[in-house]
Amino acid sequence: MTHTESSETRTYRGSCHCGGIEVEADLNIFHPETPFGAPMRCNCTFCRRRGAVTMLIGPSAFRLLKNETEARYQPKPEIGAYMFCGTCGVHVYATGSMDQLGGDFVTVNLDVFEDVPRDQITVAVLDGRDESWGVVGSGPMLG
Ligand SMILES: [Zn+2]
Repeated sequence: MTHTESSETRTYRGSCHCGGIEVEADLNIFHPETPFGAPMRCNCTFCRRRGAVTMLIGPSAFRLLKNETEARYQPKPEIGAYMFCGTCGVHVYATGSMDQLGGDFVTVNLDVFEDVPRDQITVAVLDGRDESWGVVGSGPMLG
């Protein structure tokens, strides 16, 4: 019943489905430092289609371990790029830079990590559609 262990930052390792891209990230899933740091979905036209639950972290908390199959998509090149596996199609991470997010950032797709406790995670929905970036809803990650 206690969550002592989960109150700390942990290193998670994951990959796309075919293994062409492998990543590692230091995540504090239960006690994010900012609203932007929580597990989140975004309601913008791209993220609705992408469907991923992501977390935003600093570049130093992210490591790209293997990168053999990367493809990228940049609907807003001035903000950043979404990385997908060109073989299996899975979205793994994104990189970008925005002043209101404190400069350079990385977001990771939580579903690429095998040992994330999905049934314990609450997901915030952020308003990227209107770019207010407020929290417009929340719900369980599930499964
Ligand atoms: Zn792949």
